[in-house]
Amino acid sequence: MKALIIGGGIGGLTTAIALQQKGWTYEIFEAAPEYKAVGAGILLGANAMKVYERLGLTKVLEERGGHLEQLYIKNYKGRILQTIDNNMLEQCYGNRSLPIHRATLQATLLEFLQQPVQTGKKCIAVAESSQGVIARFEDGSEAQGDILIAADGIRSAIRESHIGSKGYRYSGQVCWRTTITMNLPKAEQVTTAEVWGSGNGVRASYIHVGENQVYFWFTKRLPEGAHFSPEEALALIRQELAPFSGYMKEVVANIKAAHLIRSDLYDLAPISGWHRGRVVLLGDAAHATTPNLGQGASQAIEDAYVLADCLGGNNNYETAFRQYESRRILRAHKIVNTSWQMAQLTNWKGSIAAGIRNFLVRSMPASTTKKQLDFLYQADL
Ligand SMILES: Cc1cc2nc3c(=O)[nH]c(=O)nc-3n(C[C@H](O)[C@H](O)[C@H](O)COP(=O)(O)OP(=O)(O)OC[C@H]3O[C@@H](n4cnc5c(N)ncnc54)[C@H](O)[C@@H]3O)c2cc1C
Repeated sequence: MKALIIGGGIGGLTTAIALQQKGWTYEIFEAAPEYKAVGAGILLGANAMKVYERLGLTKVLEERGGHLEQLYIKNYKGRILQTIDNNMLEQCYGNRSLPIHRATLQATLLEFLQQPVQTGKKCIAVAESSQGVIARFEDGSEAQGDILIAADGIRSAIRESHIGSKGYRYSGQVCWRTTITMNLPKAEQVTTAEVWGSGNGVRASYIHVGENQVYFWFTKRLPEGAHFSPEEALALIRQELAPFSGYMKEVVANIKAAHLIRSDLYDLAPISGWHRGRVVLLGDAAHATTPNLGQGASQAIEDAYVLADCLGGNNNYETAFRQYESRRILRAHKIVNTSWQMAQLTNWKGSIAAGIRNFLVRSMPASTTKKQLDFLYQADL
């Protein structure tokens, strides 16, 4: 059996590695003409690292990423609102969360592939018959397989044409990210904090993702499509983060406007089905989420493992697709919805509302926090 994988992002690449371990043949196609070693960082949840452990990638990723001991939510004055101990995650769930540069993660996944990604291949049409499925590309070429896995991201053209959903929701927030060439003081290299401003959705964070690499992100509640040049965006970041305590100002001083990557944060309203005929959705194409739980890629990684597991144990792709969907859809949608609620919580306007919100987060019973962690990291693979 042969799979066509459309999209060479984290979801598509992980799927290819998982499928090759099940003895499947595949071809993987990416629209971009080449992979570039630019971009931001990412935090892979302990649940994603459980998948990578099973695929034999944990050691190499841990060698190439950062090492994290504590994750905090703090207010801008430095008061801790919530703590997650990464050692505790390892004890409870078997794996720790890993901060890493996206380009490093991508390069590592590419190294593990038995088939190279075919770049410059934008899929523009999919045709099915009883014999198989054909993907047609913008350059006039085509490829044939038994099934097609659409890992083509939130704006998945294959989902739009095959499943029909275009339910994009703007969260009210714009995010700017960058990787800065600098080293943090030793103590700062093993901790990270998501720091909440005094209202209006202002949040920021920085995290060591590898030698001489600091990943920084900033979000603010802003109207959809609000215009900012890179220089204006940097000025906004500097202004909003000026009252923030701790090392934030030193990090911000090293940001280069031209290196800022802007993302207007959307998700996809949960959809009722992830497959039709020989086509199945995976990752953001199936369940794009806002990044408030840091779980988008981690969920794509879980999808990849579970889909390969279902396909490996079945000669019938329809049965495999049904099993995959039923093993994944409730969990993925709960993450989308919880993350959406978090976005709305952090959007609260004004300092009084922010104070109440922070009090609620700080007063959360330990048992409630533990339940949330169990849900996120106790992945049933
Ligand atoms: C600000 C921000 C911060 C985030 N932080 C985290 C985090 O810390 N942890 C985490 O787990 N997740 C995080 N995420 C989410 C994460 O980035 C995504 O969930 C993840 O990248 C989804 O992977 P994917 O492979 O499904 O889709 P994508 O990464 O979107 O990859 C899709 C690929 O398909 C290609 N493609 C698209 N159309 C076609 C076509 N027609 N033909 C061929 N190829 C095509 C694209 O070029 C792309 O390479 C964050 C997201 C944002 C916006």
